[in-house]
Amino acid sequence: MTALTAAPPELLMRATNLNAAYSADGTRDVPAVDAVSLEVPRGQILGLAGESGCGKSTLGNTLAMIANPPLYVLSGTLEIAGLTIDLSTLDKGADARHRPHRGQIVSMLPQGAMNSISPTLRIRDLVCDVVRAHDRSKSRSDALDLARDRLTMLGMPVRVLDQYAHQLSGGMRQRMVTVISTLLNPQLLIADEPTSALDVSSQKALIEMLIHMVDEKIMGGAIFITHDLPVLSMVTDQLAIMYAGRIVETGPTAELVHSARHPYTSALLAAVLDPTRETRTKTVEGIPGSPPNLANPPTGCRFHPRCPFAMEVCARQDPPLVGEGIHSASCWWAKDHPHETVPLQGVSL
Ligand code: SF4
Repeated sequence: MTALTAAPPELLMRATNLNAAYSADGTRDVPAVDAVSLEVPRGQILGLAGESGCGKSTLGNTLAMIANPPLYVLSGTLEIAGLTIDLSTLDKGADARHRPHRGQIVSMLPQGAMNSISPTLRIRDLVCDVVRAHDRSKSRSDALDLARDRLTMLGMPVRVLDQYAHQLSGGMRQRMVTVISTLLNPQLLIADEPTSALDVSSQKALIEMLIHMVDEKIMGGAIFITHDLPVLSMVTDQLAIMYAGRIVETGPTAELVHSARHPYTSALLAAVLDPTRETRTKTVEGIPGSPPNLANPPTGCRFHPRCPFAMEVCARQDPPLVGEGIHSASCWWAKDHPHETVPLQGVSL
């Protein structure tokens, strides 16, 4: 009898060998994204997690084809929607060439976007401008119908279309920019900390809208960037953990959360609390030390100065990529302990 095997999910996006750097003084590059390759299957949400300063937002901007000086994309290709885009041309006068790709193919919901809504336009005019700037075939009334539909999904009153940004609360503004970033039904939405300014019920509505839009194929998929692992564990199908500009572990969310193979992932998980009754009796310890200065990162594994499992080889050589299927980690400990989960550190009961 022939065993039935599930077909691998169709790929929505593949990014290969992305390298991006900040040019501090025009002569010296500070690498912020280092040899990152990443895939998002169609119909899935990928979570990107890591401490502040580990390169998550820089990676998001690079994938969204937004690289403004002092950020420069040094290399990398993005395959999406039948296109292969050379991202290293972003800062070389190619802005006009990539413009049609933004919004419709990749849409970015940047961190703090709620503060960038024009104060001089009613929301309805902003909505029409955004839609018609990318698609002249859409009328004002098409654009407003789309916006009403999305507002209803988020449980927001459609009267906000007649208001100005200063008349909306912070949470309303954040949800409004989420609506605007999805109006063109992008293939891929990159949402950078979209829930950080929201109360819990607004968070829930926004998360449900993103999941609904992916499930209903209104969008092809999404990348959700945050350091909030409990939120990511609710929303995402897969996780990528980033440290010091590199992806150190990737895998299906449930597997990665319960069976981390990289000590940094384990330390991140140990540093957060699930909102359960047991929370009251837990002591949480943060990760000792701080992320390295990327102008002069540690040799070998960049996590080695903070890692309780570090061995002599860790400081000397880049760790190998180990793993089976779609769960993999770059770590010497994981290589020496095949199939083992990193013991959870930092939490005492
Ligand atoms: S490679 Fe070494 S230092 Fe880096 S996470 Fe693994 S065990 Fe720790």
